[in-house]
Amino acid sequence: MTQGHCSFCDAFPLEDRSKVPVEHFRPKGLDEFAHLDFKWSNLYYCCEYCQLEKKEKWEEALIAPDEPDYRFLRYFVFDYTNGAISPNPTSSLHEQERAEITIRLYGLDSVIRRQYRLLELRKFLGATSSTIDDWAYRDFLELTM
Ligand SMILES: [Zn+2]
Repeated sequence: MTQGHCSFCDAFPLEDRSKVPVEHFRPKGLDEFAHLDFKWSNLYYCCEYCQLEKKEKWEEALIAPDEPDYRFLRYFVFDYTNGAISPNPTSSLHEQERAEITIRLYGLDSVIRRQYRLLELRKFLGATSSTIDDWAYRDFLELTM
């Protein structure tokens, strides 16, 4: 479903796939979600960095990447000068709040994430041919095309 990308930050390729964590969107450490520990609808292919950032954190407004009406630009925008991600200021206040929570819980705007996006952008712009699915941070790169 994710074409080998992290469900939350879109990192690709994920390192040793035999060790790729499975993210429990609703944390398995919280009693209220114990019944979801093995439900497919609560499990997401995820990079180690996203999982280590989020751990057992939970807020009801967190955005699930497979929500039926999810579109990246509905919630987020990029700053191509520094690789930052932030809530889309043209979205509703509720959508901006959801985006802020998602960015914060998964650490999507950390310094290292910004640097990875810019590095991937430089490589992408220098490539002669490739499909977008062979790159990390596809939403970030696609907007440059
Ligand atoms: Zn990730």
